[in-house]
Amino acid sequence: MPSSRRQFINSSVKTTAAIVAAGIPGTSILAKSRYKNEVSGFTGYEQTPLPYDYADLEPFIDAQTMDIHYSRHAAAYASNLRDAAKAEGVDQSKPLELVLAKVSNYSIKLRNNGGGHYNHEFFWRCMIKGGAALEEGVLKTKLINQFGSIESFQLQFSDAAKNRFGSGWAWLYADKDKQLRIGSTPNQDNPLMDISDIKGTPLLGLDVWEHAYYLKYQNKRADYIAGWWKIVNWKTVEERYVGG
Ligand code: MN
Repeated sequence: MPSSRRQFINSSVKTTAAIVAAGIPGTSILAKSRYKNEVSGFTGYEQTPLPYDYADLEPFIDAQTMDIHYSRHAAAYASNLRDAAKAEGVDQSKPLELVLAKVSNYSIKLRNNGGGHYNHEFFWRCMIKGGAALEEGVLKTKLINQFGSIESFQLQFSDAAKNRFGSGWAWLYADKDKQLRIGSTPNQDNPLMDISDIKGTPLLGLDVWEHAYYLKYQNKRADYIAGWWKIVNWKTVEERYVGG
């Protein structure tokens, strides 16, 4: 992996973990940041390179789906986000997270594309070739304490993903008290948004838009979800929660 990618991932993980550690999904931590994406790891307004190749998530997500998803769908969100941000006077040198926290102040175009860009940048890093296991540690213990078992957690998360009507996302997130929560959001909304019914710091997200799975799975969303667990990068999820 090129060092620039590794740097981005490492710093991104650390910064998100710092937000979780502080229990603040909103802006106060962000406001103290240095506003340099390459330093802080906050989400910027440009796509970053995928941390793996299109074919690396096979057979669970096929290369063609990854190619189209990254180079067309996600690229369009990023491009439309920059257009909206420019039109609405957003300072693109600052973290996108700041805008998401106050997204009710902006247009629907900015909400949809800002969420779309953030969610995909986040989503790519929820996955890794071959998956990375959930090791013994703070997150695993917390998941078992709150959900009874890892299997029970996965069942509840999978249900949230299956039951999201139409397009949207399933999330594991930490609320302001650092409690783990499962929920889902419609369209490209996410728990960082002030308009969201569920609020907190995203730890794990699953894209259940049809564009994420239709080429391989057609209408069988449940099969896509079942396969997706095999490529989850639990190392990143844990680092997001406990700090790097
Ligand atoms: Mn998508």
